[in-house]
Amino acid sequence: MSSVPSSSKANTKNLLVKLFKRVSSIRFIESKPPVSPEEDKSSFNLTQLLTIFCALTTLLITLIRMNFSSLPSTFSWLGIANSLVFFLLWGCFRIGLFKRYAAGILLCTINLVLVPMVIISGGLSSQFAPLVALMPFMFTLLGGFSYAIWVNLAWSLVWIMMLKIGMYDLDLTQSPWEQGKAMSKALWLILSTNISTFLAIKFENTNRRQKKELIKLANQDNLTGVYNRRGMTQLLNNEIYYCLRSKTYLSVMFVDVDFFKKYNDLNGHVEGDKVLIDVANCLVNNTREGQDTVARYGGEEFIIIMRSTNALEAKVAAEKIRQSVQGLQIKYSDVQDEFITVTIGLYSTKCINEQVEDILNTADQALYLGKQQGRNRVISA
Ligand code: GH3
Ligand code: MG
Ligand code: MG
Repeated sequence: MSSVPSSSKANTKNLLVKLFKRVSSIRFIESKPPVSPEEDKSSFNLTQLLTIFCALTTLLITLIRMNFSSLPSTFSWLGIANSLVFFLLWGCFRIGLFKRYAAGILLCTINLVLVPMVIISGGLSSQFAPLVALMPFMFTLLGGFSYAIWVNLAWSLVWIMMLKIGMYDLDLTQSPWEQGKAMSKALWLILSTNISTFLAIKFENTNRRQKKELIKLANQDNLTGVYNRRGMTQLLNNEIYYCLRSKTYLSVMFVDVDFFKKYNDLNGHVEGDKVLIDVANCLVNNTREGQDTVARYGGEEFIIIMRSTNALEAKVAAEKIRQSVQGLQIKYSDVQDEFITVTIGLYSTKCINEQVEDILNTADQALYLGKQQGRNRVISA
């Protein structure tokens, strides 16, 4: 028996490793980026729009059907009642009631309305049955993945129960029942809600990924990769909120590269940019991941936000940062033995009655003092 050549074995192994890495890197569900008040508002508006859409379409279809089909009058009455329920719900949302649970209430109502309609109009053969395939998309749009998965499971169960128990004596349309077709109808209905759920999850995943990338791009400084001023302001706002709630200290540092204009003049702006990247990396490497945030305020100025850090701890951290930047040993020029340094203005606070601008101003004043006193030092406000 001929043995497999070792290179082909290695190729197969590589291929398997690649395949494994690819499969294990697929994220079935993307984590949700933080929700802002604007998003909450637009989701509430969408819920209102869908509610009035449900109310109007139910009413219109009921009125049209009354004139064209010979269905029992129960359908017309039920249709009008359903539409009234949606109008009532819409009215409640309009005056701001149930704002927090609006999406959940609408989605539950749609299901509560649809189940009896499906049962009395022929179960698996109901003309309303294909509408169910829309549910996972609608639920994902309003509430996210978990809603879509639950509604899919619930309706799959409903179809299986209808297949098992029958319930066809409840069919008011009294259309002839074909046992032979029931199984294939149930299968198609379950398949369609499952496909719809899968597509809805794919759609939501892409949406969340793109949103996260956009948020990152909007908040990131494109030269150094740390937070930009916009991201920093938002984050500092959140940290003030956290500081007040947790009754801890928040420390903020204003870090400014000393005589940076001189460096640019001697080495050019492209080399200057490289120094800014090195300094930013140095700040990131000397701060706590997940607790501290480094941001570029503008030009050669950086901000460091340190959560749950009192004045003493911040002073130690700032001194370490100052020494680390000096330790990079970036010379202004080959003929001079001076290294790039930073001056740090430091402010630690409990955040009572202070806004973002107040905190930055105080740290900036400390920085100004540091510059006046000769640079390459840490000054606490
Ligand atoms: P000081 O010690 O008082 O802070 O002196 P300085 O020279 O650092 O301060 P000054 O405000 O006079 O100059 C800041 C310089 O930073 C001027 C500008 O050339 C440089 N700068 C600002 N933004 C950038 C940038 O994105 N890239 C580069 N390479 N240089 C920048
Ligand atoms: Mg400056
Ligand atoms: Mg400077």
